[in-house]
Amino acid sequence: MNSPTDTFQRLLRELRISVTDRCNFRCPYCMPKELFGAEHHFLPRSSLLSFEEIHRITTVFTSLGVRKLRLTGGEPLLRRDLHRLIAMLAEIPQIDDLSLTTNGALLTREVAEKLKAAGLKRISISLDTLDDKVFQSMNGVEFPLGQVLQSIDHATAAGLAPVKVNMVVKRGVNDQAILPMARHFRDSGQILRFIEYMDVGNSNGWCYDHVLPSVELLQRIHQEFPIEALPSNHPGEVAKRWRYVDGAGEIGVITSVTEPFCEGCTRARISAAGTLHTCLFASHGHDLREPLRSDASDEQLRQLISGWWQQREDRYSALRTQQNTIPAKIEMSYIGG
Ligand code: SAM
Ligand code: SF4
Ligand code: SF4
Repeated sequence: MNSPTDTFQRLLRELRISVTDRCNFRCPYCMPKELFGAEHHFLPRSSLLSFEEIHRITTVFTSLGVRKLRLTGGEPLLRRDLHRLIAMLAEIPQIDDLSLTTNGALLTREVAEKLKAAGLKRISISLDTLDDKVFQSMNGVEFPLGQVLQSIDHATAAGLAPVKVNMVVKRGVNDQAILPMARHFRDSGQILRFIEYMDVGNSNGWCYDHVLPSVELLQRIHQEFPIEALPSNHPGEVAKRWRYVDGAGEIGVITSVTEPFCEGCTRARISAAGTLHTCLFASHGHDLREPLRSDASDEQLRQLISGWWQQREDRYSALRTQQNTIPAKIEMSYIGG
């Protein structure tokens, strides 16, 4: 079957799969502890897609054009034996990029080596500050900073280099960490990426005043460490790349709010429960688990996905500024970042 295009002629090239809706952190911008407390109902195990189901659906997606795959969550390393899933996915010949996004809390040396040996190509580790006190309040569970810094080293030592370090910037909360983070990761071989704080989900109390536009962020860095723009690695690349003029490496900025990139968005997402979302900001999705569990053939699954993709009209970020109200959306911990 040919690769489908959506209503804006965008192909289907990338897939993000959330392997669990659970997390060991409670970052206020994602899973605030007031809303994700002890009484919160996470998905029962039987509702999660099994490794076999994830593998099968991924092969169907590759037959429709997907070449890049990222596992995420919730916290993906909470899913037991994740390396086994990675090994299964790494065998799919059409996948030329297999990556993982994690908060790093469970990324010991041994885990990093297992993931690498299983075939993981790249890893992104989230870290929003180098101030232990701020970090402990930003992860909501007082998790110590030192351990995440160690995880970054473990990933590097295991050969998952260059490790990408994702920093969500929230004005007034951690924007004072921009320069210390830049200073720390310059010359380290690790690529720091700044993400504009987004209005994902309905529970993080987002407002535009909390967004630090990337233009301002780049100015702050440029004043201390001159930078220059780099061309993108490939069409549809989400991060805009910059390099330090003195040769100390590169950084990236993800301008989802101030300069949306919906035009080139070729990404689909599957939630932990097996629902396909064609936009991070989707208010609804398409159930894949039911057909997977009721003996649909690969061809039937292909037809379903292809049909949904062809109807896709998503360009939430591009429209955001024109909208008076922000509709209800799926939580990011559920759909995967
Ligand atoms: N738990 C893993 C982690 O934190 O890396 C993976 C899932 S998390 C939802 C994926 C990414 O989304 C993380 O880098 C996180 O910082 C980012 N994220 C979560 N909420 C966000 C928000 N409101 N705006 C921008 N990025 C956000
Ligand atoms: Fe957990 Fe990642 Fe969300 Fe933080 S951003 S609460 S680590 S899923
Ligand atoms: Fe893609 Fe939706 Fe993000 Fe636009 S808002 S870039 S369509 S995920």
